Amino acid sequence: MRLDKLLANMGYGSRKEVKQLLKKGAVRVNGETVKDPACKVEPTTEEVTIFGERVVYREFIYLMMNKPQGVISATEDLRDRTVIDLLDAEYKHFQPFPVGRLDKDTEGFLLLTNDGKLAHELLSPKKEVPKMYYAHIEGKVGEEDIRKFAEGVSLDDGYFTKPGELKVLKSEELRSEIELTITEGKFHQVKRMFEAVGKRVIYLKRMSMGPLILDDQLKLGSYRELTEEEIALLQ
Ligand code: URA
Repeated sequence: MRLDKLLANMGYGSRKEVKQLLKKGAVRVNGETVKDPACKVEPTTEEVTIFGERVVYREFIYLMMNKPQGVISATEDLRDRTVIDLLDAEYKHFQPFPVGRLDKDTEGFLLLTNDGKLAHELLSPKKEVPKMYYAHIEGKVGEEDIRKFAEGVSLDDGYFTKPGELKVLKSEELRSEIELTITEGKFHQVKRMFEAVGKRVIYLKRMSMGPLILDDQLKLGSYRELTEEEIALLQ
């Protein structure tokens, strides 16, 4: 990899800024000062330092975010703020993207990464990765809904869903609280599954995806890197 690319990718500035640092003699490769931005380095085995500090190379970044309402799960949007806008520059330069989408008004667990292979696997319908949602539903949710969801329901476009595991936490005349686990990720799936049984979702939050559970220490709009253990669980 070119030295200027490595340093820019690791967040030491734009290619132009990195060239200035090289010119100043701030960068060493295996102890030798290198000023040529085009110098080729093997980032995992060669020692690169900047002002004497070791440049730790990593290719992938994995972030768990507690997505707030009002932001879009996309990398760019002309009108609204995106989940990428919530990230610090030190993470943005890795160019992460959200793994799957949550609606603008949905909160909760969102994985952001630049690891395309992992994202593809987590989203692959074949893998049937379970996603657990917590929701408030208008009206009473009961046994009949649990049974229907367990069989699968027919959405407005005629698609028949895979079974969903519905747990009723509270069922009252005006409002119910539920947990629903599904293994698919169709557009607006949870909302449309409830529509299919004549009910309306009024609050939706994703609590988990596959083996990862939303960290309850994460405030809405905040995020953290996955731990080594969590990354291993995803492989
Ligand atoms: N199902 C929905 O309806 N919305 C989401 O954001 C996620 C799942």
